[in-house]
Amino acid sequence: MCGIVAYVGPKPAYPILIKGLHRLEYRGYDSAGLCLLNGELKVWKCKGKVSELEKYIEGENLEGTIGMAHTRWATHGEPNQINAHPHYSQSKHLSIIHNGIIENYLVLRKELQQRGYTFTSDTDTEVLIHLIEDIQQNEHVAVEEAVRIALTQVIGAYAIVVLSQDHPDKIIAARKGSPMVIGIGVDEFFVASDATPIIEYTNNVVFMNDEEIAIIERHQELKMRTIRNQERTPYIQRLEMSLTAIEKSGFPHFMLKEIFEQPHSIEDSMRGRLHLDQDTVTLGGIRDYLPKILNAERIIITACGTSWHAGLVGEYIIEDLARIPVEVEYSSEFRYRNPVISEKDVIIAISQSGETADTLAAIELAKSKGATVLGICNVVGSSIARATHAGVYTHAGPEIGVASTKAFTAQVVVLTLIGLLLAEKKGTVPESHLHKLRLELGLIPSKVEKILERANKIKDIATIYKDRTNALYLGRGYNFPVALEGALKLKEISYIHAEGYPAAEMKHGPIALIDKYMPVVFIAHKRGIYEKVITNIEEVRARKGNIIAIITEGDESVKKLADHYIEIPDTEEMLIPLLATIPLQLLSYYVAVMRGCNVDQPRNLAKSVTVE
Ligand code: GLU
Repeated sequence: MCGIVAYVGPKPAYPILIKGLHRLEYRGYDSAGLCLLNGELKVWKCKGKVSELEKYIEGENLEGTIGMAHTRWATHGEPNQINAHPHYSQSKHLSIIHNGIIENYLVLRKELQQRGYTFTSDTDTEVLIHLIEDIQQNEHVAVEEAVRIALTQVIGAYAIVVLSQDHPDKIIAARKGSPMVIGIGVDEFFVASDATPIIEYTNNVVFMNDEEIAIIERHQELKMRTIRNQERTPYIQRLEMSLTAIEKSGFPHFMLKEIFEQPHSIEDSMRGRLHLDQDTVTLGGIRDYLPKILNAERIIITACGTSWHAGLVGEYIIEDLARIPVEVEYSSEFRYRNPVISEKDVIIAISQSGETADTLAAIELAKSKGATVLGICNVVGSSIARATHAGVYTHAGPEIGVASTKAFTAQVVVLTLIGLLLAEKKGTVPESHLHKLRLELGLIPSKVEKILERANKIKDIATIYKDRTNALYLGRGYNFPVALEGALKLKEISYIHAEGYPAAEMKHGPIALIDKYMPVVFIAHKRGIYEKVITNIEEVRARKGNIIAIITEGDESVKKLADHYIEIPDTEEMLIPLLATIPLQLLSYYVAVMRGCNVDQPRNLAKSVTVE
């Protein structure tokens, strides 16, 4: 979850590291730290964001052309200066930054303490650097070998960078279960948790694989080995990512930029896949597995958070169109229960980052039972993209805001394309209906554009409700997952307690919450189970709840019932989530901004959840 960046080359390292940390801050931000190797290892670290670190080290001598830096998302030990990374070894000749969890740290810590090591922090990370030093001193091996041996003793997930005062030109990096990318420039190297700190310097990157160690040395070729000591040839890829994609481009927050990018990101997620001229859908990434999917007895979608909500929409779409039974599972539950999975099942794993630890574990479980596993990820080359048999990228572009927006709509588009493709091949839906759906899908970007033009109206509604402490989101059918997603968006960035429910379930409990202080957001689009939703609105009205309704353009009857309404264009029922989600994203965004919340970096959260 944390951000890692390291540099060695001819340039001063500090500006590269600090800029890199800013780019990575969305991954974790409870403390930050930096280490420069300039004769000796110098470490600075503090609680808080990267800007605090910058203030903290003002006036210091920050010279050096090799160094590493970290933003932390604490798993062991509270976020404070002592627990912030980097951590020194006992002799201060080594230093480490780490992303992940060392699960057997207590045992290792005890052993090391018995051998005379003293611990200054409460982190799991510190054991690793003492262990490396212990091995180096006892076995008289080079630092990279000590790292390798230490990692054979470690249980858990990690991406680490180690610097050694005795090797002033060397960076050692390793990964297992946490992402790590190496950028290769002209006589310089970059290491980072993702490519965002690297792309302004070079497009040539190596995505490290699990259990690999990289030995990165000034004026040398990149060398890689596995933890089992086998040599690996680095596979250099060219990365297509533009700098503007990772900058705010005039928007006050990444989240708002990403909401407004959706006409384009949705377009990008269907480009080359939805062929309106030929009236068909193709998905090259899963072409080879199509017979397997068409014959699947069951599809299990596994995901976490917002991706899980997209999965629910996918369940409705695929069952509706392709008539294949679909189940949607939280990855964290799926992996720890004893699910019935066979070779006839197809698993679809969804994750924006492609690094979600629980989803990765769910994939491994499904693979071990012989199932075919497909991935829907946004980050190209990510762990999930590589762990699955085949998959479809969402192509939404980098998503930096912690609250997922454009990744969600792109995931729903991809699931819609899968549904359309399967239905076309299976012949489960009349061609005329498929034709209409394809046409409508093609129109979604311009319809999203129209909704975004109404942002000011949504802002006005936010002004009225910004100080409420609770909210309820209700929808039926395809709009039930939209209600869940709307509620999640509000709670994660504005810290207002919000619940999403299927509208009909209201009577089985949540209705007890309704009074004149309770805003209730209804997704009341004309298509689907409209009349029933109207009845639910009446029920809330009768109890003096405040009704905010997402309605079909020109629906005069709901306008009269609601305290506030937001119009969205008409479309096919199964495509409504792609439209109805947009005003809910904007509503939570404006509420959070008005409450003074840090929208892009909400408290306690981090962008890609690489720990269980
Ligand atoms: N487990 C380590 C800690 O709590 C690393 C956490 C992270 O990935 O930021 O310090």
